[in-house]
Amino acid sequence: MKMSRMGVKPEKMPPKDAETVNHKLLVQAGFVRQLMAGVYTYLPFGLRVLRNIEKIIREEMDAIGGEEILMPMLHPAEIWKKTGGWESIDVLFKLKSRTDRDYALGQSQEEVVTPTMKEFIKSYRDLPKMPYHIQWKFRDELRSKSGIMRGREFLMKDMYSFHLDQTDFDRFYAIAKAAYLKVFSRMGLDAKVTEASGGSFSEKISYEFEVLTDAGEVNILYCGSCEFCANVDDLSQYKEGDKCPKCGESKLKPSVAAEVGNVFDLGHKYSRAFDLKVATSTGESIYPVMGCYGIGVSRTMGVIVEKFHDDKGIIWPKNVAPFTVHLIDIKQGDRAQQIYQLLQDNGIEVLWDDRDINAGIKFSDADLIGCPWRVVVSEKNVSANEIEVKTRQNNEPEMMKVESFISKLKSD
Ligand code: ATP
Ligand code: MG
Repeated sequence: MKMSRMGVKPEKMPPKDAETVNHKLLVQAGFVRQLMAGVYTYLPFGLRVLRNIEKIIREEMDAIGGEEILMPMLHPAEIWKKTGGWESIDVLFKLKSRTDRDYALGQSQEEVVTPTMKEFIKSYRDLPKMPYHIQWKFRDELRSKSGIMRGREFLMKDMYSFHLDQTDFDRFYAIAKAAYLKVFSRMGLDAKVTEASGGSFSEKISYEFEVLTDAGEVNILYCGSCEFCANVDDLSQYKEGDKCPKCGESKLKPSVAAEVGNVFDLGHKYSRAFDLKVATSTGESIYPVMGCYGIGVSRTMGVIVEKFHDDKGIIWPKNVAPFTVHLIDIKQGDRAQQIYQLLQDNGIEVLWDDRDINAGIKFSDADLIGCPWRVVVSEKNVSANEIEVKTRQNNEPEMMKVESFISKLKSD
């Protein structure tokens, strides 16, 4: 992508009203724009990052048997009345049509997926089933000051599972938990899994996936020696300084964290509400056990920025970066064009700053935008056909042949 063609350029200063790092940097670097508190436009750079995050999630959900669908955002009130959510869920956005009918904007999709799957799940032979989708959600959140980490409109991956019995559910629950850890580690995030706790849905077991960051809203206690982690907002049997109940090695440390995902055992709540029953092998008619599995796609993008930045800008982990290479030419248009082409022909995603502006601005914008590699094409070493290469974190550039750089990226 050429920067001159985008119509989106990095700003000199972050927005004045921004309270969090992700909000400041994402707006300043040209990834997003805020329409109102908790509602954002994703500009070309931002959309690329969102798509990269989605891709990782999609691959890992498909790998454990998930089947991608796309459910609507506009829901009839009746399905929410059926489960009691119409009255009990305070964040549910409600609206009326011209003909005085009531509707809700999807804040989650159990009420849609359960009656839909009822058509396809009739007997034990149809189980298990794991439909998922990646769709915008709407929630009437009171506080939306954490940039894209708490949206009133936000992108979520939500998977739902249907199982014949608790044993099969437990088997899949463990698989989903492992897949979640893989998703976050592919994005460069170290997610801690909170000890099982009952969720708001029922007394069933849930796990939260927490990333340590001051920009988060969850108070946790964790062990420095093993993976033990507990949400202290609803699990108050632990306190700071306690010996780790799991390994006994270290004392529990407090931290603030952001919840990037969670998984819930829904039990029979929704299958019962929508009377989704299956025939067992012995001919009995029973309610399947359901689970739900959420990941905050847009929140995760914000968390990544909170974790990976310095005073110059964002430092994207390579798997989610908007581009692998940020190409800067210093009055070397033709040669830069050739290198831009060559890198792209080799499947490398390149952002070319071809703007006719001061080189200093190009350098500071490259740091702000935060692509993993910076390549400078200047008069230096034209005869040796070399380029200047540097990673975003490293301050020492090195000269290299274009071909060697391409092989290095391919083997990375
Ligand atoms: P929170 O406690 O942060 O409000 P939640 O428990 O309400 O989260 P879920 O309903 O389980 O969240 O949604 C699944 C995932 O969607 C969460 O783990 C989180 O990553 C993300 N999420 C929830 N609410 C928001 C929001 N307002 N903005 C952005 N992401 C969100
Ligand atoms: Mg919430």
